Amino acid sequence: MARYTEAVCKLCRREGQKLFLKGDRCYTGKCAFERRSYAPGQHGQSRKKVSEYGTQLRAKQQVSRYYGVQEKQLRKYFVQAEKLQGMTGENLLRLCELRLDNAVYLLGWASSRAQARQLVNHGHIQVGGHKVDIPSYRLKAGEVLTIKQKTREKDAYKAVLEANASRPVPEWLELDRTALTAKVAALPERSQIAVPVEEHLIVEFYSK
Ligand code: SF4
Repeated sequence: MARYTEAVCKLCRREGQKLFLKGDRCYTGKCAFERRSYAPGQHGQSRKKVSEYGTQLRAKQQVSRYYGVQEKQLRKYFVQAEKLQGMTGENLLRLCELRLDNAVYLLGWASSRAQARQLVNHGHIQVGGHKVDIPSYRLKAGEVLTIKQKTREKDAYKAVLEANASRPVPEWLELDRTALTAKVAALPERSQIAVPVEEHLIVEFYSK
């Protein structure tokens, strides 16, 4: 799958918000957005009138970049979200939030969603006692996640866990920090999903 390989801090500056794409650095004063909170490039500081379409596009891009989901996959989520009961925008965010790589990041088992994706890809994460190496795997309520025994014994990985141990975990995930297991307590409510976006704009974007 195609991946964005340029400097990721530019994405935060383009979207006008912190997307937490660079691991530990995002939580320090070295964060590029903290230092230059305007768009990158020569005209980054000039004021521009943004069209309705532009606003909707930016909202869609924010979610895509926040979760590291490509356009094709996000559109698929939208189609699925429309078929579910409830608000389409909320459903869309819930589908993104329930990705296995996202949960691994939220649990503090990785420093960034990119690192979480790699951990899953390399078979370090188990769901219900079985290896799941698909980052987009959609978690269900009641499922239990664990880190492979061999992985948690590695010093380098212990350091990752330690560095992220103080990060708050959303309520829809029940983390046992000692056993290094986590349960999907319930499907996430909108109020428990931290992505700062007006999801109705994404619905409007895809509904054209
Ligand atoms: Fe975004 Fe993190 Fe870079 Fe800050 S350090 S601009 S939050 S990716």
